Amino acid sequence: MSDFSKTRGLFHMPPGVIYLDGNSLGPLPLAARERVAKLLSEEWGSQLIRAWNTAGWMLQPRKVGDRIARLIGAAEGTVVMGDTLSIKVYQALASALEMRPGRRVVLSDNGNFPSDLYIAQGLLRSLGPDYELRVVDPEAVEDTIDESVAVTLITEVDYRTGRLHDMRRLTEKAHAAGALTIWDLAHSAGALAVDLTAAKADFAVGCTYKYLNGGPGAPAFIYIAPEHAESARPALSGWMGHEAPFAFDLDYRPAPGIERMRVGTPPIVALAVLDAALDVWDGVSLQDVREKSLALSNLFIREVEALGAELTLASPREDDRRGSQVSFCHPDGYAIMQALIARGVIGDFRAPDVLRFGFTPLYIDEEDVLKAVAILKDVLANRLWDAPEFKQRSLVT
Ligand SMILES: *Cc1c(COP(=O)(O)O)cnc(C)c1O
Repeated sequence: MSDFSKTRGLFHMPPGVIYLDGNSLGPLPLAARERVAKLLSEEWGSQLIRAWNTAGWMLQPRKVGDRIARLIGAAEGTVVMGDTLSIKVYQALASALEMRPGRRVVLSDNGNFPSDLYIAQGLLRSLGPDYELRVVDPEAVEDTIDESVAVTLITEVDYRTGRLHDMRRLTEKAHAAGALTIWDLAHSAGALAVDLTAAKADFAVGCTYKYLNGGPGAPAFIYIAPEHAESARPALSGWMGHEAPFAFDLDYRPAPGIERMRVGTPPIVALAVLDAALDVWDGVSLQDVREKSLALSNLFIREVEALGAELTLASPREDDRRGSQVSFCHPDGYAIMQALIARGVIGDFRAPDVLRFGFTPLYIDEEDVLKAVAILKDVLANRLWDAPEFKQRSLVT
């Protein structure tokens, strides 16, 4: 049984803050400070370049990848860290397309995060005019999969509404049509009990600064199913993904297995933060996280709806169709969110009118939910949001 009163104590939370934005940037795990201080003084500071060997830096992308693998139902040796999620999307898509040479269609949906679509557009443009990115409504994905589709590029949980795709079912459908699947787990890893092996996913990618609390710009991960690991050819064939980086050959030969998805020098400081953040998961089951997260989300939905009809639920009501966040729409959503943040309830806003609230039991409990709703009630009932300072849009919303 996971002990969430214990995990709560593993994070730094500024006083007076109810943090409902772990779906965008997880809070600081206390262990990260010590880990980084140690890395700076005992590794980089003292050992200098020797630390690549003596402190095991060179192996970190794979070792941290194995820790992530356990959280997403992947076998050891199938996940590697590096770069950002957008880059991992590019790598997965380029490799998958090369594995379906007769096909030209990438299928995605309009609930996908724009960066995934932008990356696909850029890659397809450089592959030539025959390639097509087909973007349909999330509900239409299943029926649009046909034998023209080379790859499905789908994000399991919608970043705006929290709508959850059925990974197993869509993967099965894609495979029946001879297509490969790429699953983006940006809003799944650390939020749900993902099982890539059982779902038979071909590729998966995800970031680690959201539910995995790895810090701003933390390294992303990529997964390749074992049966494809030796045939997937890397498009970003950097030296760190070479079979023998320090042989300095002039020709590229991919490293065995998932290591080929490494590109350049790994971000060692960022990997240390992430490694420390992953300690939080020791002794925590994702089934428990999921169950408690749904209970918190349902409590929030019930309490907010009891306030009256001002906010409209934008997330699916059914547990099995929703991830770990709850979204509500309001025409003045931006100002309302700024007013909430000024009162210590931190969520975020996504254009045009969506207020997002993330519920992770690692550091949020029922009492936080009720306190947040009480503040929301005050903000709405007294129109506290209706002030010029809350309507000024910042760079990041
Ligand atoms: C958060 C998110 C991203 C962000 O990509 P970065 O390269 O890490 O900035 C991409 N795709 C999805 C689905 C996301 O939720």
